[in-house]
Formats: sequence, structure tokens, C-alpha cells
Amino acid sequence: MSGKKKKELALQVIQLLKEAYPNSDCTLTYDRDQAWKLLVSVRLAAQCTDARVNVVVEELYRHFPDVEALANAPVEEIEKLVHPCGLGNSKARDISACMKMLREKYQGRVPDTMEELLSLPGVGRKSANLVLGDVYGKPAIVTDTHCIRLSNRIGLVNGIKEPAKVEKELWKIVPPEEGNELCHRLVDHGRAVCTARTKPHCEECCLSGVCQKNL
Ligand code: SF4
Repeated sequence: MSGKKKKELALQVIQLLKEAYPNSDCTLTYDRDQAWKLLVSVRLAAQCTDARVNVVVEELYRHFPDVEALANAPVEEIEKLVHPCGLGNSKARDISACMKMLREKYQGRVPDTMEELLSLPGVGRKSANLVLGDVYGKPAIVTDTHCIRLSNRIGLVNGIKEPAKVEKELWKIVPPEEGNELCHRLVDHGRAVCTARTKPHCEECCLSGVCQKNL
């Protein structure tokens, strides 16, 4: 499919998903004026469900309610609290180092550029894009497992699994201001209809008329 056709397809998908999921949003809960919490949650969400992360952070923040408290917390204490999310040791170390850097370099604020975000411990492109899009309203494409699976099935990308490459390809065909919300909607659609573990429900899919069904 030519680049022009892919752009047309992307616009159709954006419109159809907007109609099907008008209220899609990030499923990690955090206060918009406490962006550091999103950084903590997104680190904990690796190989863990968002629902479990949302429960675990409540207890974590009861003990350590702000950047300063979390930066000062012993790593072992953080590890005990985040243990239910799996990979407790490495997640606790990253969270501790990240909060220390926020305190020391950014006066406790979360930076708003890709370069600065990527310099924070435990923050990769996916997390950085999530912060840029959700917290700062900047153009962002979050290539999580749903985005990658659906982009390939729909035909927005062809046989690309590597997150950074999918992101690069999507940037070519998705209007910058649409990227962030499109990704939230792909997550919702990937959970509800175009599922990973069962056969996708193409017969009830709002994208059925345009999707390339690369299954
Ligand atoms: S038509 Fe099928 S493969 Fe395409 S997005 Fe819908 S459920 Fe997924």
C-alpha cells in the first residue's frame, strides 16, 4: 500500500475509533498536576496490568506521598510495596533513582521534552510519549503491545514489531495532534475487540470495512 493510501487509511481509522470510543483515556490513574505519579505507574506497569498498578500505588503513596518522600525512601521499602507488580527489585531501583533525579535536577517537576524524559532512570520512549501526550498535550505516539498488534493487523504498518520502528512509521501517516488519543483508543479496541489471546472479533468490529485484516 502506498504512503498516500496509508494516510487515508489512518484518517479513516482515527475517525471510526473516535466514534466508537469517544472517551478513551489513559487507564493508569494519577492526578494531572502530579505527573511524577504517572512516571511511577508506567514503570510499574511493565509486565503487569494497569488495574493492579492502580491498586499498588495507593499503598505506595500512603507511605511516600511526594517526590521528596519517595526519593528519600530506602529502595528495600519501595520494593516491598511494589512487589505485587513483579520485577520489584529493578522497578524499585528505577523509581528511587528517577525520583532522586527529579528532585535534584528538576526541582521535583517532570520535564516536558523527549530528550530530558529519556534521561530519567527507567523511562523509555513509550513512557516518555505517554507523559508528553497526556500531561503536556504534545504530539505523542505510544507504541505499546496493543498499538503494535493493531497497527499491523489494520495495515497501518507492515510486519513491524519493534516499538521505535512502529512509532516512526506511524508518525509518517498520523496527524501529530491525533497520535495520543489514537493510541488510547487502540488500547481500548485491542482489549475489547481486536484481542490478542482469542481470535479477533472482526464481525463486530467498527474497522471491519477498512481493516486489511493481516492476521
Ligand atoms: S477487523 Fe478484525 S483484525 Fe481488523 S481491527 Fe477489527 S478485529 Fe482487528
